[in-house]
Amino acid sequence: MATAPRLSAVVVGGGVGGLAAAIRLAAAGHDVNLLERSERVGGKLGRHQAAGFTWETGPSLLTLPEVFDDLLGLAGTSLADACRPVRLDVTCRYHFADGSTFATRDDPAATRAQIEALSPGSAPAWDRWRQRAERVWTTAERTFFAGPIEDPRALAGRMRSPLDLLAIDPLPTLHQRAARTFADPRLVQWACRYATYAGSDPWRVPATLGCIPHIEQAHGCWALRGGLATLADALGAAATSLGATVRTGTEVGAVLVDGPGGRVSGVRLASGEVVAADVVVADVDAAHLYADLLPDPGGRRRVRVAGRSTSGFVLLLGATGRTEALDHHTVLFSGGYRREFVDIAAGRPPSDPTVYVCAADRTDPSAAPAGHESLFVLVNVPSSDDPATAWGGGQAEAYADRVLAVLDRRDLDLRRRLVHQEAVTPADLAARHGAVGGAIYGTSSNGRRAAFTRPPNRGRRPGLYLVGGSSHPGGGLPLVALSARIVAEMIEADR
Ligand SMILES: Cc1cc2nc3c(=O)[nH]c(=O)nc-3n(C[C@H](O)[C@H](O)[C@H](O)COP(=O)(O)OP(=O)(O)OC[C@H]3O[C@@H](n4cnc5c(N)ncnc54)[C@H](O)[C@@H]3O)c2cc1C
Repeated sequence: MATAPRLSAVVVGGGVGGLAAAIRLAAAGHDVNLLERSERVGGKLGRHQAAGFTWETGPSLLTLPEVFDDLLGLAGTSLADACRPVRLDVTCRYHFADGSTFATRDDPAATRAQIEALSPGSAPAWDRWRQRAERVWTTAERTFFAGPIEDPRALAGRMRSPLDLLAIDPLPTLHQRAARTFADPRLVQWACRYATYAGSDPWRVPATLGCIPHIEQAHGCWALRGGLATLADALGAAATSLGATVRTGTEVGAVLVDGPGGRVSGVRLASGEVVAADVVVADVDAAHLYADLLPDPGGRRRVRVAGRSTSGFVLLLGATGRTEALDHHTVLFSGGYRREFVDIAAGRPPSDPTVYVCAADRTDPSAAPAGHESLFVLVNVPSSDDPATAWGGGQAEAYADRVLAVLDRRDLDLRRRLVHQEAVTPADLAARHGAVGGAIYGTSSNGRRAAFTRPPNRGRRPGLYLVGGSSHPGGGLPLVALSARIVAEMIEADR
């Protein structure tokens, strides 16, 4: 039997989606050129070091580590060998506006006890939430996440019965499901928080996202000693060891096609150099792909319909001492969650924001000099058409002050201990990573049809494929790695 020919593949963008695609294609024996605009690979999965502190600048929480084990396994290594993973015991601590607090733990029984202590009588509701979350995830994993979804027949083929569609709980919103499950408004707020894992709005996102607490409980919440960005280093090394060529500082200016509607033939770099290829895998935001690299009104329309995820306003803080109220991951909830998302939908940064803090030094003392702490602070804010204007003219400084005031009101006593402070605005995210509008997860998951409106993995020309947060199945580290698996299988099937 004749074997299919080896392909030449160009991967545009070295974010986690692009790295994962390069690893899979190189492991399948293809010639791979990964072209990354900036000087390092990893994209949003980054780190920043200053004054002896190290901060994550993007993701701070790793879930579904087996997705990366599987990937690194293709290069003969593993997450444990290539990085230094730590499974967190306290997965997240929550402080509510009324001063009450609870923590989710790695052990479901311990989490149940925490919930009962916070809200006596609520443990059975938590049990119901967990059971539903498990059903949603196990169904979604073998259906929606296991392949492309633009072909309804292929999706139906992965379903055991039409009941699978209901099992993923797509009809109510996450807020409706939470309010039907929990009588205590604090637990409703806690459950709604999971919409933000997809840069979305709990009042619009399907209840499907309620599966995330199950993923966290069953598969753990992970940190990496040395920072999550060490995963990007490991993926880059794995791609290279499999024979992929990784070129940083290399911006792609155009995807080339053979005539109108024709097959892709490679890419032209911003420098003018042409790199020929049989297939092009785009890890850039689909909005950038279809507006700049391969102008296509139909592609742009699809991106518009899908809608952008939220952006993030980040403070990288270094402080003396140690804030006792903070664990590795801490959420300080506002008193008005609904109002925050109304603000975001209206294009305004929330006036009274919920604040997420990652104190990486709790797990990795090397993140801060002795006697200090290193804090990554994140607030959900809207993405916008023009983030540079939205965050210029003193807006960033004023908002940094507002966020620090929230921390002060929560008695963290932080401002007086600060020795270092930097802000990363949506405009910075857009400029550094090509995150269109500053969107941190690519497309949003708002609306029942969100999964079907995302730009599909199969591009709009033969030989063009999309991975990464703006394509199926969406943003977040494990999902963009899954998009690469879907695309690698699609390329194999197309040969
Ligand atoms: C502040 C923040 C917090 C987050 N928190 C979490 C978290 O805790 N957990 C989690 O799982 N996820 C989190 N995420 C989301 C996660 O980072 C992303 O979903 C994921 O990293 C996106 O990977 P990607 O491959 O889609 O693209 P990106 O990381 O955006 O990579 C795209 C790459 O393409 C390059 N590029 C763009 N244009 C060109 C061009 N023309 N030529 C060549 N290269 C180009 C860019 O430089 C970039 O490196 C967070 C993101 C941010 C910003």
